[in-house]
Amino acid sequence: MKKTGYYGEWGGAFIPEVLYETFEELNAAFTQVKKDPSFWQEYVSLMSTYSCRPTPLTFAENLSDHFGGARIFIKREDLNHTGAHKANNVMGQGLLVKKMGKKRVIAETGAGQHGVATATMAAKFGLECTIYMGEEDVMRQRPNVFWMEKLGATVVPVTSGSKTLKDAINEAFRDWVTRMEDTHYVMGTVCGPHPFPEMVAWFQSIIGKEARTQIMEQFGKLPSRVYACVGGGSNAMGVFQGFLDEKTVELIGVEAGGKGLDSGQHAARLAGKDASAGVAQGYKTMFLQNDDGQMMDTHSVAAGLDYVGVSPILTDLWKSGRVRFAAATDREVMEALDLTMKKEGIIPALESTHAFVQAFKEAGDMNRDEALIINMSGRGDKDIFTIAHAFDDPSWKAFITQKGAEYAS
Ligand SMILES: *Cc1c(COP(=O)(O)O)cnc(C)c1O
Repeated sequence: MKKTGYYGEWGGAFIPEVLYETFEELNAAFTQVKKDPSFWQEYVSLMSTYSCRPTPLTFAENLSDHFGGARIFIKREDLNHTGAHKANNVMGQGLLVKKMGKKRVIAETGAGQHGVATATMAAKFGLECTIYMGEEDVMRQRPNVFWMEKLGATVVPVTSGSKTLKDAINEAFRDWVTRMEDTHYVMGTVCGPHPFPEMVAWFQSIIGKEARTQIMEQFGKLPSRVYACVGGGSNAMGVFQGFLDEKTVELIGVEAGGKGLDSGQHAARLAGKDASAGVAQGYKTMFLQNDDGQMMDTHSVAAGLDYVGVSPILTDLWKSGRVRFAAATDREVMEALDLTMKKEGIIPALESTHAFVQAFKEAGDMNRDEALIINMSGRGDKDIFTIAHAFDDPSWKAFITQKGAEYAS
């Protein structure tokens, strides 16, 4: 018999006993709305009036001609309110919280993007909101902290441990245990204990549903390949679900290769060799950890991909061979970002650009009567300082300038 909340051997719900009842309540509420078509209708209507859905599917004609192979289409999740696909998840959970009658939401955030999205949702729905954030991250992500507070949220700097994301996760769970009756924990991605992976994947499936309809309208047939970057895996699961049942459509997840897969400074769980199976943060997946189960320090130029775990759903799809995994290095990301800006007038987030890197490597070898879709999870405005710094770095400047000349010719 299939155990609930498992994808193959991955997933589950490893939670403290005090949370059993809260999880049962959440499971019941989610199960009910999932089979109620009017809830999905309400969700779609909210997203079309508050967050620009359906987001466009853009034909990238210049990039397609540049590589001379597959026709490249970009799914524009950057045009969501707050600038990324995260809006889909938080607004969906907001509707669910309203149904459950809870008055307060909490979340943890690393780079701050999920914190801003959650604070936005809380303002819209009239909920009290507390965001846990490592003290290190509070200092590094000043603009996001500013907006969370202006949106009415309380930001709690976490000073324990390494003062980053994993400590913030522990602190948020501690809060939840003390205030379960009126509080919902807004999980940011398709990770954590069941039912979070299933729930977040369900809300994000709106991306794939739209993309499938749009590519049929614009191209007349299914794409050969669909690319998405993978942090926790929510934007990838979102777009992949539109094509999972079509065996002719290849699905490619792209992780953070950081300074290279052999450098020890990356966040490639499934594309690299450094991860192993483990249970942490309430679920079982492949974690970047040492032999003692101690989590490793990860690195990526894109803060949103810098995470030790990965969705149990994706780990299962990787094991079964349905989803192929690749990694893009920081340097490859800057190069692809430069090309995309110059050719299409589009500024993808550094996270999203990882998917562009792999698509660019493969597009030229595909036929002109094939299409590929890149899921552009978010916009790059937030990355302005990182991008400016990278393009100013003397060792990269020569590299980018030389590439610029190549693109112009
Ligand atoms: C948070 C974020 C990601 C990573 O999250 P997933 O759950 O893997 O989608 C990717 N892109 C952007 C723009 C983000 O803000």
